[in-house]
Amino acid sequence: MEILRGIAVSPGIAIGEAVILEAEDYRIPYRAVSAQDVEPELARLDSAFSNSIVELERQEEWLDHHLGRDAAQVFDWHVGVLKDERLRSSIESLIRDKQAAAAYAASTVMRNYQRRFMQMSDPLLVERIRDVQDIERRLLRHILGEDREDLAHLTTQAVLIAHDLTPTQTAQLAETRVVGVALDSGAATSHTAILLRSWGRPGVIGLTDVSTRVSGGDLLIIDGANQLVIMNPSAAILEEYRAKEEAYVRLAGELDEIKSLPAVTRDGERVQLMCNIEFPPEARVGANKGGDGVGLYRTEFLFLQPAGAPSEDEQYEAYRETILGADGRPVTIRTFDLGADKYTQQRSYEQERNPMLGLRSIRYSLQNLSMFKTQLRAILRASCHGDVRLMFPLITSLMEFRQAKMTLHDAMEDLEEDGIPFARDIPVGMMLETPAAVIQVKEFCREVSFISIGTNDLVQYLLAVDRGNERVSQFYNASHPALLRTLRDVLRACTHAGVECSLCGEIAGQPLFTLFLLGIGLRSLSMAPGNIPEIKKLIRLAAVPQAQRIARRALSFETERQVTNYLRDETRKMLPEDPF
Ligand code: PEP
Ligand code: MG
Repeated sequence: MEILRGIAVSPGIAIGEAVILEAEDYRIPYRAVSAQDVEPELARLDSAFSNSIVELERQEEWLDHHLGRDAAQVFDWHVGVLKDERLRSSIESLIRDKQAAAAYAASTVMRNYQRRFMQMSDPLLVERIRDVQDIERRLLRHILGEDREDLAHLTTQAVLIAHDLTPTQTAQLAETRVVGVALDSGAATSHTAILLRSWGRPGVIGLTDVSTRVSGGDLLIIDGANQLVIMNPSAAILEEYRAKEEAYVRLAGELDEIKSLPAVTRDGERVQLMCNIEFPPEARVGANKGGDGVGLYRTEFLFLQPAGAPSEDEQYEAYRETILGADGRPVTIRTFDLGADKYTQQRSYEQERNPMLGLRSIRYSLQNLSMFKTQLRAILRASCHGDVRLMFPLITSLMEFRQAKMTLHDAMEDLEEDGIPFARDIPVGMMLETPAAVIQVKEFCREVSFISIGTNDLVQYLLAVDRGNERVSQFYNASHPALLRTLRDVLRACTHAGVECSLCGEIAGQPLFTLFLLGIGLRSLSMAPGNIPEIKKLIRLAAVPQAQRIARRALSFETERQVTNYLRDETRKMLPEDPF
């Protein structure tokens, strides 16, 4: 038995035999064809192009229907490449002039194309190189009539192991018998990770070398919540995990029953459970899961499409769809948080030495005022359709917040001049994600309508650990006493100032932290829609004085291990059946 630890994508337990998706590409030896075979080879190529386009468009339709337009757009670039006449005629010329077989010609031209991206030696272009490889594989599959990598033909439940997955491969998973995924690579906000999360099965990424350690047919357990991959488990561990798996299924049934009930503690304290969303259709999904609204709409995903920044009207439509999906519930729209690990296609060429400390988030917005103002206009226009709030990310200084608000007022004045309606009294808040903002929280409280604590970034900046780097993931720990004390102090300051404070980092959706967060006074938590039912269950079992006692005790510890063990024990007492 061997246990590997990586970065969690989504919780749950998956048990199955390993299926390894080879990182290697098709090997295509040079093959010339006879003069009379040139036309049939051209015809093969032609049908490979059309079949690939039809297949991609079908996939886009599926994604559009299930996850919305923004997710579907991941494949726009693939279709664009396949429709590019120059690319196609280069392949045709090789067949015609050199009498090359269609597969060889396609592979050669696509590799040249790939090399062009590689020569830019920009690590941020890895995503694009993988897209090109993906297009090549698709074309070759159609030319050669092989389905070597087609997971659709799996006959038993399997755990998929790969170095990495392309967006195409990830999108196909929903239609296969794959029950869990483990990957070597791990960028938590890549298109692949986003699609994996929406798929909803347990996944662990950033495992570095899982694809070389596991052999096809090995028995694997994926423990999504604890970000573990257990290889060839002992009989006892397997039994333990089978029980956990059953508990998950039982829990899902039970949770379904309470989703329409409010999140109220035993002693009558109401807690708002909001959703974090990346794509507009998720607002409706969150409402169906029993959420109280959208606490964080990560609008930057609209900007990560190959087509570039969306127009004001396109943004307006996305915001409107989100607001209508929330069906009268409040929606907090965060202005784009680009940079760091979320570069637009256009900016992916501008390498930064230390992007997590670089031109990201509000800093980038304030240096690109026309793009920022366009977004603010779109949000303001959409604000007429419901209960909308606006939030600026990664605010580090008062000057930044004031400047962002000034830009907002500019946008308001423009709309007024144009006679376009908007909600004048839109609440404007900030995300508290940096130690500097924590230290100045009192001053911020005088200027903001609300504060939302972003612990994903706050942990990274407080503990000096890159949140996306698998090599230091063992140091990225939200149980650190420094974080717990910071959260308590922020809550105190906000309560004293009468400023509403919520929390939208990942810990909001982790049962381990629920009692602590309740105990320090949080009454609004925002999380992935899938986490809402379980957190609601826990809140309905808890009482405020008990949570306060637990928080006080958790705050008394000196090490993260003590905190985790204590919180785990207390949570287990409340949810003895639940695996978390
Ligand atoms: C956070 O940092 O906690 C947060 C919610 O924002 P993001 O994960 O998008 O950086
Ligand atoms: Mg953040």
